[in-house]
Amino acid sequence: LDRRKQVLRRAYDILVGEVGFPPEDIIFDPNIFAIATGIEEHANYAVDFIETCRWIKQEFPRVNCSGGVSNISFSFRGNDAVREAMHAVFIYHAIEAGLTMGIVNAGQLAIYDEIPQDLKDAVEDAVLNRRDDATERLVAVAERYAGRAGGDIETEEWRDAPVDERLSHALVKGISNHIIEDTELARREAERPIDVIEGPLMDGMNVVGDLFGSGKMFLPQVVKSARVMKQAVAHLTPFIDASRPAGAGAGSKGKIVMATVKGDVHDIGKNIVSVVLRCNNFDVLDLGVMTPAETILDTAAEIDADLIGLSGLITPSLDEMTRVAAEMERRELKIPLLIGGATTSKAHTAVKIAPEYSGPTIYVPDASRGVGVAQNLVSDTAREMFIADVKDEYAVIRRRRDNGARRRPMLSYRQAVANRPQFDWSTYRPPRPAHPGVSRLSDYPLSRLVERIDWTPFFRTWELAGRFPNILDDGVVGEAAAGLYRDAREMLDRLVEEEWLTANGVLGLWPANSLGEDVRIWRDETRDATLATSHHLRQQADNGRPSRSLADYVAPAGIDDYIGGFVVTVETDAARRFKDDDYSDIMVKALADRLVEAFAEHLHERVRKEFWGYATDESFTNDELIAERYQGIRPAPGYPACPDHSEKESLFAMLDAAAITGARLTENYAMWPAATVAGWYFSHPESRYFGVGRIGEDQFHAYCQRKHVDPATARRWISFVLDR
Ligand code: SAH
Repeated sequence: LDRRKQVLRRAYDILVGEVGFPPEDIIFDPNIFAIATGIEEHANYAVDFIETCRWIKQEFPRVNCSGGVSNISFSFRGNDAVREAMHAVFIYHAIEAGLTMGIVNAGQLAIYDEIPQDLKDAVEDAVLNRRDDATERLVAVAERYAGRAGGDIETEEWRDAPVDERLSHALVKGISNHIIEDTELARREAERPIDVIEGPLMDGMNVVGDLFGSGKMFLPQVVKSARVMKQAVAHLTPFIDASRPAGAGAGSKGKIVMATVKGDVHDIGKNIVSVVLRCNNFDVLDLGVMTPAETILDTAAEIDADLIGLSGLITPSLDEMTRVAAEMERRELKIPLLIGGATTSKAHTAVKIAPEYSGPTIYVPDASRGVGVAQNLVSDTAREMFIADVKDEYAVIRRRRDNGARRRPMLSYRQAVANRPQFDWSTYRPPRPAHPGVSRLSDYPLSRLVERIDWTPFFRTWELAGRFPNILDDGVVGEAAAGLYRDAREMLDRLVEEEWLTANGVLGLWPANSLGEDVRIWRDETRDATLATSHHLRQQADNGRPSRSLADYVAPAGIDDYIGGFVVTVETDAARRFKDDDYSDIMVKALADRLVEAFAEHLHERVRKEFWGYATDESFTNDELIAERYQGIRPAPGYPACPDHSEKESLFAMLDAAAITGARLTENYAMWPAATVAGWYFSHPESRYFGVGRIGEDQFHAYCQRKHVDPATARRWISFVLDR
């Protein structure tokens, strides 16, 4: 409360006193935080907010005061009856104290006087922090109200509708409970089993397609619908005349070969695109990950594919895709090539890939766009126009790029080195690791990682935009996000409980010194035998700021500094477990990705507190960790501050990471299994993430010499940072 008063007072003085802003135009939001979380310090949060409102009204009578209300009940996600009661009670007291506006789902507000007495008492005790056991009592009362209100509780009324409608409903809602019995019923009523697919099931899927296309349904729901469809089709298949190919026979729109390119292992995005295309009646042949160009193109020829889709996540895959395009040209193919995946972009596709292939080459930003693109490409009427439009658009991008590249000012490498950030090493005492050398963390308990999960990227994986936890209440995607989150938590509980995943990690902390532009890592404290050298690149953009390189964060020879490195990996048996259930398969992979990132976060925390031990009494919340409030960084080779993926080779060797964790590097330095994270640890208080950006040929040649690699090879790994 005191801190809030200080901040508000200062804001008011600046706005009104210094700037001359009219006080009646000010709206202060003093922040509503969750109560009844089980954490004692949170118990008074509602009271503090209410008292802040009272104070604002008294000190600055003309100022308005607002808050995001649903935060207060965050710990009761899924129990809308209790949440609504909490909002109503909280608003009632806050308004009385001076709250002038608030953000809340107005359609979901209970009326204070109509809240059942037992619930109201329990909520009021918690909101006003009237008794020590308020949270426990509210939780107990809440159980009685679980599932009472809220629009997302499925009523069973739809079960009374005719079977065809039930099938459509099940598809649209993604409900699989009754799908087999309903499909069986429909089959008995139908003339031929295939009619069930071509009739009600197709109708249902068309509704799904339309809702998705118009933004009224979202990816997780579509993938769930696809699962229901698959179950129904699987039930019908044995009955369908053997001469007719199941499912696909029903008017397929076109055949697509999809693959993650050679050297890359990431497939969640590609799998989602496949599912969505299949829902829209495309035949998708998915070749999986690490697929060589020959396999992709031979398969496409074999099945007479209408489209080829390539996916990849790491930067070397960009070059790999360019090679596939060139090979398509050599084979004189004409079929469209679709490009997608995290590091791909419209610009890269236009500038690097499309010029290699005279057939249509099209960048697809996400799964929801994939269907539209594919449909255009197989349409007799729209195809020509669509392809011509894309070609024109890409030509414009190339022209703009050519002009822009010439204008971007760059320092010479020599100037950039001279322009390095200056740290005062004379007064700096680098922290000495408490546990130097290599430490292994085998079969790490998953339960310790769960609390460190950053959920926001999880929703991005499913193409739901917004920050967690607010996304759960979002006006547009809230319902889809909350449903997805419920399923995710449920699976997370199971996979932790039943140990579906194995988490292994290794970390090392070694004596190190910067040596010009590189970091020399020493075998031991004598600092006379080299264990490895990690090579770094320096910014060359001429923008008036220091030209940074990660090497700057390690002290030069003569000062005892250190560097760290780590590899963490989470292995899943999802592929085996969920062969016929794409929704669960994608879910478990997405969760493995979350857990391995959480592992990296958790391990970094332990490194700062224990292994390196330079921040023993650090104490941050998960949100603060995600916001990187701590001292030090863990840049990942292949990412902007150290874009050369091949530097993982020495990191893996120093840590003996393959033997200890089971994680491996592919020929393009992707890490397998896909849920693997690696990085360096820097402890310097000034260390920050940055992007190297474009570098010049001068630096490139110096780099090749330092690293003892020939330019042709080095170019493969860092071509995308080279300025031409
Ligand atoms: N909370 C996120 C954490 C991953 S993103 C999640 O759960 O997905 C942040 C990580 O990406 C950093 O810890 C670092 O390892 C890497 N990173 C971010 N910016 C970087 C940069 N400029 N250079 C190198 N690595 C970077």
